[in-house]
Amino acid sequence: MVIVMKPGTPEQDWKKIKENLESRGYQINEIVGSGQTILGVIGDTSALDMNMLKVNECVDKVMRVQEPFKRANRSFHPEDSVIDVSGVKIGGRKLAVIAGPCSVENEKQIVGVAKSVKLAGASLLRGGAFKPRTSPYSFQGLKEEGLDLLKIARKETGLPIVTEIMSARMLERFVEDVDLIQVGARNMQNFELLKELGRTNVPVLLKRGLSATIEEWLMAAEYIMAGGNDNVILCERGIRTFETYTRNTLDLSAIPAVKKLSHLPVIVDPSHAAGLWWMVEPMAKAAVAAGADGLIIEVHNDPEHALCDGAQSLKPERFARLMGELSGIAKIVGREL
Ligand code: PEP
Ligand code: MN
Repeated sequence: MVIVMKPGTPEQDWKKIKENLESRGYQINEIVGSGQTILGVIGDTSALDMNMLKVNECVDKVMRVQEPFKRANRSFHPEDSVIDVSGVKIGGRKLAVIAGPCSVENEKQIVGVAKSVKLAGASLLRGGAFKPRTSPYSFQGLKEEGLDLLKIARKETGLPIVTEIMSARMLERFVEDVDLIQVGARNMQNFELLKELGRTNVPVLLKRGLSATIEEWLMAAEYIMAGGNDNVILCERGIRTFETYTRNTLDLSAIPAVKKLSHLPVIVDPSHAAGLWWMVEPMAKAAVAAGADGLIIEVHNDPEHALCDGAQSLKPERFARLMGELSGIAKIVGREL
């Protein structure tokens, strides 16, 4: 971190800041110019509040040279992290595809979809039991019963299950039953929930918030990791922009950005990004070409009658065809499906 003093700051004033930081364990290198003094702060500055330093009247500017996230930072962990989700590796050479309906609706539906996505080559099953709907009058999910049905589908197919947690109150049940706990976009900055997840060792799929910057997203991952749970997988699912044609705008540039900044795996959700089933295929292909470690795709046996997100759901046959096409793209970018 670099602290630039206002021109003409008397020595005793910048020395006070220097001594205070030294007493907190930082090493300070000062550059004393003819009009201006600059302090270089050396050490782990992730706990230093830039705004508190700016409160000081003699401080002109404070700049970070290092990102505020540490455990998620690639500089502290140069090799890619590979997260093991009940035997399925996410982040390695092989791409992970999570597929299934937006919501678990009944046993026949979830088991049927699970069987078809497994046949098409998916390695994990998704399905919402607790749904974060915009309207309180929309279908809210089958809740605990949904978790039971997911477990039946897992037993029938062997696919590990991925489902969203909305409240820390349900954590014990999720830790017991779920292979990969999803934190939805709306809860990305639910810091209490993130801290609770940090106390477990269950893998977490952390979706990017609706309007979150990449740094805010990585800081959310840091919350989970700071508690001791390093099993975090990031998921780009589209962000809010001025465009209304699509449900969100898929930020493909987030993939190389996250790969540069962090060692964590990043997967892409083209379904919630586009909101339109016919756009899922090209966006999924683009994500693989851009270096994503996997995909999460909504698949429904009867999208016209789905209780949630039918408009963006692929029918099983289309999903199977897409898997075939993705494998060619994966090969070109040195991955396999
Ligand atoms: C979902 O995956 O069903 C979901 C609600 O996603 P998001 O949190 O990205 O909107
Ligand atoms: Mn959905």
